[in-house]
Amino acid sequence: MKIKEKKLEKEIMMKKPQRKSDSGYKIDLVTMDGEGSFPCPKCGMTISPEDETEENYKILDTKVINEELVELVIACAKCGSTIILTGFQGIDA
Ligand SMILES: [Zn+2]
Repeated sequence: MKIKEKKLEKEIMMKKPQRKSDSGYKIDLVTMDGEGSFPCPKCGMTISPEDETEENYKILDTKVINEELVELVIACAKCGSTIILTGFQGIDA
């Protein structure tokens, strides 16, 4: 299907890396092993949300529902990618 391919191509070209929150990489922490750390989807640097020094990432936004953190939007300190973290409910505090 030629038309479909063309449309997809256009969508990819229109993609801008530094748009607002919903254009970042999405990571569901439930699917991650270990203590909630994960590699940056772009540069591969290990990011640990538990790390309170924020040396490897910067918090851009948080979404809290019923006093529970449901979404954390961070930026990788190395490559600047926006990463949206979900799945906090599955982690025992
Ligand atoms: Zn990165």
